[in-house]
Amino acid sequence: MNPVIHVPHASVWIPDEVRCQFEISSADLRDEAMQSADLHTDALARAAWPSAEIVKASVSRIVIDVERYADDALEEMASFGRGMIYTRAHDGRDLMRDLTVEAREELKARFYDPHWLELRSKASGRTLIDLHTYPRQPWSTEPNPTADRPEIDLGATEGITPDGWVDELGRYFENAGYQVGCNTPYVGVIDTGASAAIMLEIRRDVLGSPEDAVRWDRMVRALTDMPFPC
Ligand SMILES: [Zn+2]
Repeated sequence: MNPVIHVPHASVWIPDEVRCQFEISSADLRDEAMQSADLHTDALARAAWPSAEIVKASVSRIVIDVERYADDALEEMASFGRGMIYTRAHDGRDLMRDLTVEAREELKARFYDPHWLELRSKASGRTLIDLHTYPRQPWSTEPNPTADRPEIDLGATEGITPDGWVDELGRYFENAGYQVGCNTPYVGVIDTGASAAIMLEIRRDVLGSPEDAVRWDRMVRALTDMPFPC
């Protein structure tokens, strides 16, 4: 199996010319980029599936979030100030960012549209894994803060994620010793035109970092050997 891995939130890069859109200190901005990032998910994808095609967002999600609908009317997170363009930090603080419609469109054309063009062309007709990590304690900007927060959340969408695959993955990760949930606390997987897709949300305390060999290697092994739809 040679899947496509989508890594939308690993980057912490904020281009210099975008920095001035935020009227908060550079230190606070850097800190927010780190807190919001699914750190090391790019390295995790490469380690787990060396032959996979990886599609990674180049900029931090606080510059523009490629995992959101571009239209705020369709995007649930827009009401939390975390739609395609963030105006709020993960803990609800104001990022002091007030973009014109033109500036918003410029960011979209520069980072969002090319990302989706690449993602759709690579994912079309293939199997896609949308790879994330998430914090153990809910952020105040989360839509379902009281939902269960398992060690691995399988995000599935009817018509995109084969039912049998969800069940198989649930059993597989449980046998590997992980606590697994489906669509909790985050729900569904993005539609990229893949023939089958699932979102993997790994709780950050379970993954650790590449320097933390015990937790990291255990997760890499589990991902490498996970089943795919035939
Ligand atoms: Zn994420």
